Amino acid sequence: SSRRRKIVAGNWKMNKTVPEALALVRELRGAVTSVGDVVEVVVAPTYLALQAVHVALEGAPLQLAAQNCHWESSGAFTGEVSAPMLAELGCAYVIVGHSERRQLFGETDETVNKKAKAVLAAKMTPILCVGETLAEREANRTLEVVERQVRGGLEGFEAKDVAGFVLAYEPVWAIGTGRNATSAQAQEVHAAIRALVGRLYGEQTAAQVRIQYGGSVKPDNAAELLGQPDVDGALVGGASLKVGDFAAIIQAAR
Ligand code: PEP
Repeated sequence: SSRRRKIVAGNWKMNKTVPEALALVRELRGAVTSVGDVVEVVVAPTYLALQAVHVALEGAPLQLAAQNCHWESSGAFTGEVSAPMLAELGCAYVIVGHSERRQLFGETDETVNKKAKAVLAAKMTPILCVGETLAEREANRTLEVVERQVRGGLEGFEAKDVAGFVLAYEPVWAIGTGRNATSAQAQEVHAAIRALVGRLYGEQTAAQVRIQYGGSVKPDNAAELLGQPDVDGALVGGASLKVGDFAAIIQAAR
């Protein structure tokens, strides 16, 4: 895992007005100066705050991500935002297939795949989220579900593309619940995802692709989770809204 640069991303979800987002990112700038080259740090504000946050991030070791996109470049899709628009705003990453989008907004492996393709076509990197529900885990279907999501999300890509992607394993039962996966549970699924990428795209791609863990990552569990050999970073929701907590998680990734 030492060859892969760790990546810690903050998913702000539907939080922070533009002035609040600017205040948060200004505080964050001060907190990440010493780790920027060791750990890649990413923030994902709402669409509305992307432009202002991009300007506020100028010169800082912080990357910008969007939380979603549409798969078409432009057209009659009221309320949607396209990947080229996000690239033009300075986004390096786009989160695709977050479980809230799958559960609340009807996203499927097929639409997630189309979005990931749009993200790559716009020269950005997808952060492709996968993860099982509690019912699926209790029915011992975790690996089957995650495998289906990874295969579906990555369908039609080439190995050289996938090598640069970020996958995020986010068990649905751990998101926003305060109940994180144990490090052993996370490592088991991360290793299975990497093995699957190896079968689909070859060992070199599997060794390069980064796999984040997400689900109630906090300062007090981050070091343990991030210490697992196949855990290459964290996708952080709630704790990314508090600079002290997010900075502590970034430190734990070193
Ligand atoms: C997320 O939304 O991706 C997430 C992991 O949320 P939380 O850290 O709040 O569980």
